[in-house]
Order: sequence, then structure tokens, then C-alpha cells
Amino acid sequence: MIMNTNYNINNVGETVTLKGWVSKKRNLGGLLFIDLRDRSGIIQLIVRPENKFYEQASSLKNESTIKVTGEIIKRESVNKNIPTGEIEVIVNDLEVYSTSLDLPFEISNDCTALEDTRLKYRYLDLRRENLKNNIITRHKVVTSIREYLNNNDFIEIETPILCKSTPEGARDFLVPSRVSKGSFYALPQSPQLFKQLLMVSGFQRYYQVARCFRDEDLRADRQPEFTQVDMELSFVDEEDVMQMVEGLFKKVFKDVINYDIKLPLMRMKYDDAMELYGSDKPDLRFDMKINNITKIFENTEIPFLKSSLENNNIINCIVAKNVATNYSRKEIDKLTDFVKTYKASGLAFLKFINGELTGSLKGLNENEINGLINELKLEENDLVLIVTANYNVTKASLGALRCKLGRDLNLIDINDYKFLWVTDFPAFEYSEEEGRFMATHHPFTMPKDEDVDKLLTDKGNCYSKAYDIVCNGYEAGGGSIRIHDNDIQQKMFEALELTEEQIEDKFGWFKDALKYGTPPHGGLAIGLERLVMLLVKSNNIRDVIAFPKTASASDLMSEAPNIVDESQLKELGIKLDI
Ligand code: ASP
Repeated sequence: MIMNTNYNINNVGETVTLKGWVSKKRNLGGLLFIDLRDRSGIIQLIVRPENKFYEQASSLKNESTIKVTGEIIKRESVNKNIPTGEIEVIVNDLEVYSTSLDLPFEISNDCTALEDTRLKYRYLDLRRENLKNNIITRHKVVTSIREYLNNNDFIEIETPILCKSTPEGARDFLVPSRVSKGSFYALPQSPQLFKQLLMVSGFQRYYQVARCFRDEDLRADRQPEFTQVDMELSFVDEEDVMQMVEGLFKKVFKDVINYDIKLPLMRMKYDDAMELYGSDKPDLRFDMKINNITKIFENTEIPFLKSSLENNNIINCIVAKNVATNYSRKEIDKLTDFVKTYKASGLAFLKFINGELTGSLKGLNENEINGLINELKLEENDLVLIVTANYNVTKASLGALRCKLGRDLNLIDINDYKFLWVTDFPAFEYSEEEGRFMATHHPFTMPKDEDVDKLLTDKGNCYSKAYDIVCNGYEAGGGSIRIHDNDIQQKMFEALELTEEQIEDKFGWFKDALKYGTPPHGGLAIGLERLVMLLVKSNNIRDVIAFPKTASASDLMSEAPNIVDESQLKELGIKLDI
């Protein structure tokens, strides 16, 4: 298929037939100029007053589809901004395929229509250049990924959409069975168990551009259905998977935006990421690490710090360089409110001005002052922001504050990409809600060799062979080496406090498979939307999905979800009680 913008100055004199949408019309001294648009861009048409189609062309409505035939000529006033800017087409023949109604909003990048209106008319929204380009970028990403994986001996295999509930930890979407009334399929939260079974089957390297479904409360970066580039490899360890995947990222960034990622990526243990950045997805585009200053205050007489330490809390801080005088009390109060949303009880501050520390932390002794100045390497006009709380609250609140300051103080180069691997995740995290330990990744993740024995005895200190690839503060993908031994898998289920019946009922079929010669295996899934968002620099997941849902999980265009006929329910044996 030839695109209209394939024509250029070399085609002058040729007669061509072009098809597309009327993007814009202008009448200049009787000459009618039409911007004809197709997927590739714009080409300028001219209709002269003496042309028998002149009247029809003058009354064309924007966004109508037309076919024209005409001669390519050299343009007098060149437009350097578009590929066809040196030429135009003198129209001889015009056919209108379809006239457009008045549009609900202007088809332009700076259209100000509400997002809901744009979602209702998504097919028009997708005609806007930036959105169209995002969708094309998504295609390029998938093409590049397929090339890479195919070249590395991966096989693309589809797994079922109608499944038994899968265990990624979110709520399932359920589909009632007509044939087995009262029974339900679940839509897959990921192809996790199937890809592991494909390793048992001997495929060795699998991938799938897989649709996943999770019935969760939505946020700006979540959708009820989304796509993972899912992969699994046999006979591998953590390094093998990480090297394969970082090669994939390198190729995609080169192919799609011509960006060079330097390999190997940095590897950072989860514990170090939490210690230094208060996050398991640290944004490394700026520094401002979290400092542990507990030791400096071990003999403190400052009452709130003293009692905090007596409660086994820690004291940590971040230092914002050279901005102390920019922060009024009011500004600091705003930061305090911010850390309180992360459960910190408050935020103490110190300003280093004229060689002295002043601020809300009163009564510092000589040792503490020197300790702070030396250990934090304080310089004139530095602002020290301090939290004391338990480990998790301290790290989470300062980690979030760090990111906020990174943005507020313009410390982030938005053209930069900083990748790393976060490794060695804790195998379990304690859920206050459930009152028990849950799997941090999922129940099929292999514990570290030295921690297998701790599965039932010391869950809090058990680490796993899990890894996330992180970019600019986002998790771009995550995976793990899996348990390939039925006994360890059984122990893991027990560690998660599943009863024997629950294990049998939920995972019996899967556990059985592990008994027939399972290769050591591991893999990872990349969040395709997140990856495209990073490449096109968008914070809105809806910008990279052709037909997304709203925050309340509905499709404003087709009005899904919707009620169904009584007869359909009857067939499924379902009675509504709402
Ligand atoms: N299935 C996992 C997920 O969706 C990814 C993996 O472990 O490969 O997070």
C-alpha cells in the first residue's frame, strides 16, 4: 500500500490517485487548498476555480473521505515541517466516498474536548496525530519484541482465556458456564501456570503477547484488561533471564526511538533499594538518597527523637541541595502534610545557612550538629528533611517525598532513561488485612537456595529469586525463577497457610505436572502499556490503548458493561439479586 506521503519532489510531473480524509480547507484568492490526510500524514491538494469539481470541493466537509486524481507539481512556498512540503497536487478528478457529519470535537493534537467525549467517539479521537502515533509506536514495539524473541529461539504460543482462576493476587473476572450451570471460568490474570506447563511440555522458550484481566480498582496506570509480553525459559538462572530481557529492552529502545541503553544494567538488591530510595522501583534519574541518621542520635536528649528510638524506630533524612531559602514554613507544612499521607507522624527540618543548622529540630547537641554536617556533607543552603518512624513508614514516606522533590525541583531530565534490575525480593510480605504472610511475587517463585529451609520457620527472612526491571521509577517488567520441585512447591503452599484441600482444589492439577520431569525454569512479563508509555512519555495508560476503559471500567463508546436479556441469564441459570 502506498501512502500519500511517499510522494516527494522526485515525483513532480506524475499523475497520481490519492485517497484520504479532508483535514483542512482554505480558500486563497479563489484557489481552494485542501490538506488531504491518510495514516502517514498530509499532502496538499489544489482545486482551481475552472475545475468542474470546484463547487463540490468547496462544500466538502472536514473529515469526509475522498479520492482525487491529479498532477504533482513543485510548491512555491515550501513547508519544511512535513515530508510532502515541497509538492502539491493539482486536482483533475474528485470522488467523494463519504461525507462526514459535524464533528463533536476538532481533530487536532491540541483539542480541548473532555476525555469522556473523546472516549465516546474514540474512532475520531484515534484520528488525532499524537494518539495515532502512540498506537503505531505500540505496534513497532511489539514488532521489535517479536523479532528479538524469534531470533532467540522463542516460540509464540497462545494460552486459554477461559481458565480456572489464576493466582496473581487480584480479583478475577468471572464468566458463567452455560453447559455446567453454577460453574464459572475465570479470565486469566496472567498466563503464569500455563507458561510453566509449557516448560514441563518441553518447549524451552515461550512467549506470548498476552491479554490479562484483573478486576481491581483502577488508577491512572491501570486498566481491567491489559497486555503483557509474557515469556518463560527452561534451564536458566536469574542472570540468564535478566541478560535475555535487557537485550530485548536494548533492541526495542534502539528500534523505536533510537535510544542506546548501556548494558549490563545495574543490579540492586531489594533491601538496598528500600534503604537508599524507599522504593522497590527507584527513580535513578536524580540522586538525593535516603540517609540513615539513627546512629547520630543514639544518645539524644531531644524528647520526641528519644522516645521514638525507645520504640525501636529509626531516624532517616533526605537532603535537598541548595534550596533551604526557597522553603518557607508554609512550604514545609505542605511537605509535612505530604509525608503524613504515607503514615509518618511528622516531618522535622533543618536548614544549613551561614554554617549553622536552624529549623524545627531544636536542642541539637554539639555531636549531633557535627555528625549531621559531616555525614550528610552539608553545604550552604541545604535543606534536611527528617522522618522518624518504623522502618517501612520511614522509608516509604521519604521515598515518596524524594520523588516529589525530584519533580518539584526539576531535578529530572525527562529525556533520560535510567534502568536497573531490582533483585532478591523478600519471598513474603505480611498482610495486616489478612493477618498472614502472602507471596510477594506469586506462590511459584523459587526461594533463594539458602532460604528454602526457612519457608516454614522464618518467613520474614526468606528471600526469593525474583527480579523486576525498573525504568524511571516504574516497574517495566517482573518475573522470577520458579519452583520446579513438587516438595518445595508443597512447602510454599503450606507457608502461605493454604489447607491441604485448598491446595488440592486450586493447584492440584498444576502440582501433579511438576512430578513428571520438570526443567528448572524462570521467566518474566513486561507490561506492554507501561513500556509504550515510557517510550512515548505519557502518564496516562489510556493514551497507549486503542479502545481503553474509563476509571470506572466502562467503555463509553459501546457502553460496556451493560445489562443482558432475561433469556440469556436464564440460559446460564443466573438470577440477579441487585
Ligand atoms: N506472571 C507474572 C506477573 O503477571 C510475571 C512472571 O512471573 O513471569 O506478574
